[in-house]
Amino acid sequence: MEAQSPTPSRRTLLRSGAGLGAAALGLAATAPTAARAADWAAVAYPPTHWIPASASNYTVSSRPTAYPVDFVVVHVTQETFPDAMKIFQDPAKKVSAHYMVASADGYIGQFVREKDIAWHAGNWDYNTRAIGIEHEGWVDRPEYFTDALYSASAALTAAVCDRYGIPRTRAHIIGHSEVPGATHTDPGPLWDWDRYLRLVKAQPAALA
Ligand SMILES: [Zn+2]
Repeated sequence: MEAQSPTPSRRTLLRSGAGLGAAALGLAATAPTAARAADWAAVAYPPTHWIPASASNYTVSSRPTAYPVDFVVVHVTQETFPDAMKIFQDPAKKVSAHYMVASADGYIGQFVREKDIAWHAGNWDYNTRAIGIEHEGWVDRPEYFTDALYSASAALTAAVCDRYGIPRTRAHIIGHSEVPGATHTDPGPLWDWDRYLRLVKAQPAALA
């Protein structure tokens, strides 16, 4: 995606969507057992806001029953939050992510339920096994990679990892550019992986 890059403060004008918890995660539809559902309910997700993508932009599934969830794929939008949101809601675009984190304040929008397959990695096999997290900004504008963005995203990634038993390691928390066959360069060399992994690993364990 390419676009102009207006100031981060513009982003707050165009948000919509109400916060949801378990419903947005698709818990009832994906939990194979009542005990597992109880475990998932204990996972400490940061606040998220349900802003559904167009149903034309992802594949309905029943993960992790249908496919294991093994990866978190980190993206940078190359768009503002509201512009990327409009892309996810446009049935002609054929693209989506599970989550997007806003630069200025770490607001997290959820666009696709985790049980479903978002179209973000450019690789079907990876899409089936990944949770995709977009970050508002541009690969060559590190001022968008704020403390708030890193912090909120790290809390989200830690919760996702714990929900599916994904190790909190670089082997499982990867950049879009590291997906086999990727034609995208995000999150780019200015994304601070050391800092991000340190924050992810510092999150308290979600399950006892
Ligand atoms: Zn990407």
